[in-house]
Amino acid sequence: MTRYLLRGAALLGDEPTDLLLADGRIAATGADAGREAGTDATVIDAEGLVALPGLVDLHTHLREPGREDAETIASGTRAAALGGFTAVHAMANTSPVADTAGVVEQVWRIGREAGWTDVFPVGAVTVGLGGEQLAELGAMATSEARVRVFSDDGLCVWDPVLMRRALEYVKAFDGVVAQHAQEPRLTRDAQMNEGIVSAELGLTGWPAVAEESIIARDVLLAEHVGSRVHICHLSTAGSVEIVRWAKSRGIDVTAEVTPHHLFLTDELARSYDPIYKVNPPLRTAEDVAALRAALADGTIDIVATDHAPHPREDKDCEWAQAAFGMTGLETALPVVIDTMVETGAMTFADVARVLSATPARIGRVTGHGRPLAAGEPGNVTLVDPNARFTVDPDRHASVSRNSPFGGRSLPGRVVATFLRGRATVLDGKPVATSTATTGGEDVT
Ligand SMILES: [Zn+2]
Repeated sequence: MTRYLLRGAALLGDEPTDLLLADGRIAATGADAGREAGTDATVIDAEGLVALPGLVDLHTHLREPGREDAETIASGTRAAALGGFTAVHAMANTSPVADTAGVVEQVWRIGREAGWTDVFPVGAVTVGLGGEQLAELGAMATSEARVRVFSDDGLCVWDPVLMRRALEYVKAFDGVVAQHAQEPRLTRDAQMNEGIVSAELGLTGWPAVAEESIIARDVLLAEHVGSRVHICHLSTAGSVEIVRWAKSRGIDVTAEVTPHHLFLTDELARSYDPIYKVNPPLRTAEDVAALRAALADGTIDIVATDHAPHPREDKDCEWAQAAFGMTGLETALPVVIDTMVETGAMTFADVARVLSATPARIGRVTGHGRPLAAGEPGNVTLVDPNARFTVDPDRHASVSRNSPFGGRSLPGRVVATFLRGRATVLDGKPVATSTATTGGEDVT
C-alpha cells in the first residue's frame, strides 16, 4: 500500500506541518512524519493547503436501488470523495425502501465494493415509508450494516404515536431518529416558502410553522421518553429558537442545516427556475442569517448535504411539476467556507467539527471524525482554501446535474481525499483503485 507524506499541510488551518499516512492510519505528524517516511513514500506538496479529517455526511440520497438514472451508490460516493467526504449516510427512500436488514445490507455491501467512501445506510422508520407501521428497526441495527440512524426522510413521521414508539425503540441500540419535520396538512400542494415572494408569484406557500410545529412536538416527545432525536435540514429562524430552547432544557436533540439553506433565499424563485425548488424550501434572508448564527454558536450541530440528485426530465419542466431537491456533495465544503469561514463566523477547526466530528458522533460511526493525530485512522481531506473555481454541474461526478450553484464562483477546491490511508482523490481527480470493483472503471 502506498505511503503518503503530506508536506506542509495546515492541520485544521493551524501552523503547517507534515503528516505521514501508512498502513491505513496517520502514522506520524510533525518532524516524526518526515523521519518515518523513508524513501518509498509518495510526497505530496501540501503547502498552502488545509488538512481536515475526512468529511462525514449524515444525509445523502444515493438513489440506489431503484433510481439509478438519478444516481448510483458508486457515482454518488465518487462525488462525495471529490467533495472531501470519507463517509456518507444513505437515506432510506429508495425503491425498494431500506426498511429491512436485507436492503440495508445490500446498500452497505455495494458501498464497500465501490470503495470511494464508507456508506452507512439509514433505515426507514416505517414500513415502506408508509407512516403506519414501524419497520424492523432492531433487525437493521443488528444486521451487518449496523444501522444507527433511522429516518423516513422525504416524508415526515407524522403520527405522534409512531414517533414516540420509534424514539423508545431505538434507545435499545443507541440509535437516533432523524426527523424530516414537515406537517403534511399545512404543506399540501406547497411549492415554496410562504411569504412575500410566494404571494407575488402566486405559488402555494409552505409556512414556517409546518416545520416548527413538528420540531416542537418531537423535542417534547424525546424528552418524554428520554431518547435522542435529530432534526434534518433546519430552514427557519423559528426552528432555531425551538432547538435552542430544547437544548437549554437539557433535551437530547441535534440539528443539521444544508449548505443551500446557508446560502440561498426564496428570492431565487422569482426566476421560476426549478433548480431552486427544494424541500424544505429556500427561506428568507433573515432565516439564512439565523441559520448561520446558530451554526456558529453550536445551536445547529452539523452541516449535512441533503444531496438529492434528479434526472434532467424531473427538473427541466414547469416549477409546479418539477421534483424537489438539489445536489450538494461536490459543493458542500466550498459553500461552508464561503458562508462561514470567509465571513469570519467559523474557523477550520469549526468546519472539522460540523462536517466531520459531530456528524460521526450523531451517527455513532467509529473510525471517522477523529482528530488528525498519530495512530488515528487515515481519513484525511486536503483543501486549498484560496483556490476559487466556478461551479460547472456538467463536470460533476454525480449522474445528475441539479446543482443550484452552477456558474457561481466558490472558494475551497478539494485537492485530495484519503480513505484509511488510500487516496480516493488526488490533484482534484478521482483515483481508481483495485478495491473499486464497480463504478470506478471509467475514471481517469
Ligand atoms: Zn428531508
